[in-house]
Amino acid sequence: MNLNLSERGVAMKTRQRLAVVSEARAGVRREQLDRRALDSHQAEQFAAFLAYAAARSPFHHRRLTANGQIKPLEEIPVLTRTEMMANLDEATSDRRLTRAALDSHVASMTGEDPLLFGEYRVLMTGGTSGVTTYLPFDQASWRRVIAAYPQALISLGFGPRLFPRRRLALITAGGPLHMTYRAAVTNRSPIMASLRLDVTASVSDMAASLDRFQPDVVVGYPSLLAALADEQRAGRLAIHPGMVSAGSEQLRPAMRDAVTDVWVAPFNVYATTEAGGVLAMECREHRGLHLREDFNHIEVVDAHDNPVPEGTTGAALLLTSWLNPVMPIIRYRIDDQVAITSEPCRCGRATKRIIDLTGRVEDTIRLDAVSGGRIDVHPNHFEETIEGWPGVGQFQVVHRADGITVSVVPAPDSPEGWDARLAKELDARLHSLGAKPPSIRIDLVSDLARPATTGAKLRIVRSEV
Ligand SMILES: [Zn+2]
Repeated sequence: MNLNLSERGVAMKTRQRLAVVSEARAGVRREQLDRRALDSHQAEQFAAFLAYAAARSPFHHRRLTANGQIKPLEEIPVLTRTEMMANLDEATSDRRLTRAALDSHVASMTGEDPLLFGEYRVLMTGGTSGVTTYLPFDQASWRRVIAAYPQALISLGFGPRLFPRRRLALITAGGPLHMTYRAAVTNRSPIMASLRLDVTASVSDMAASLDRFQPDVVVGYPSLLAALADEQRAGRLAIHPGMVSAGSEQLRPAMRDAVTDVWVAPFNVYATTEAGGVLAMECREHRGLHLREDFNHIEVVDAHDNPVPEGTTGAALLLTSWLNPVMPIIRYRIDDQVAITSEPCRCGRATKRIIDLTGRVEDTIRLDAVSGGRIDVHPNHFEETIEGWPGVGQFQVVHRADGITVSVVPAPDSPEGWDARLAKELDARLHSLGAKPPSIRIDLVSDLARPATTGAKLRIVRSEV
């Protein structure tokens, strides 16, 4: 068969799309494995992955082996982001992927889907620590990343359909270095219409685009989904998605309720770039997030990296992920606070579930104590006080040297004087904890400010002190 260049391009794209769908279907089948089959799948993948990392990366060879043998997992040292980045030139499994090569690729990136060496998609992720990480993905790894989208849709009964086509709206961070953006631009499909919205757009612009598009699936950040639900309640948006999924930030109970009230119960997703995107996601039972154990193993640990009992919320988790062997992630410390259970779920799936994801990403606020010294105020104290306060839509708390500012998108039906009463209530709550409250200011805003550097994830309680 003689194909011209553009026909060849189309044929290749079609093959790639079919490969993603078959990857997704394989993932759905693995969701059905019983515990024993899952354990043996994990053990096999795990051993092969550790051997691969030790053979391909000098850095991991040093970490993983003793006397020429791969160590048992619990004897492998914990890996921090800082350490991984300090050893970048030896940490990847392709010696061409040096810091210099990655730096220069990122500095000269153009277009929506640039490839390094014609092969690698390079993503960047920054934690609250301020250390940014490069994560290069090869073609096979990337296919596994984007297959998570159709996999979730198929698994929850929203699989691709020829007529009428599914209409998928994705709210993503705004550039090719971010996973949500790159996944959206590489996951276009002829049997699924999609709309990408930039997370930094204003809520009213986003509502207007969604209104025109009329999605039946919406994927986005919980704080924005809640803000959009407020728009719908106020009569400025009229969409009727049958499925909503929320990720990248903490899904607070009030946000879940706001979305459920106007549309459907959202599916909470826990994703990290280091795990190649989706690490855990809710099923129809909405009773915890099923871990994607066919590609990941997690250990929940305390502040000293010792394991905590099942069901207990840890200080951090250690992630081992073999989805992307280009950048081996082995006992990699992530400062998210989760609890897991291996009790079977009513949906029938045997994977472990994250049952508590509440301590994620928010900052603890350190204030002067009445009795002298300092006191740590958990972010929950702010969230519990402000959430649901009459007059408050979405909000954010920022602690700076000159005091605490609460930015609030007012609710449509704000009662007179609500803001002064809220400031007073917060002051009283901080007093009751033994803190000397700094000045508290309530700022009315139309949108909440998002950081440009960390995938535009909104931290509801943030310390800048
Ligand atoms: Zn389930």
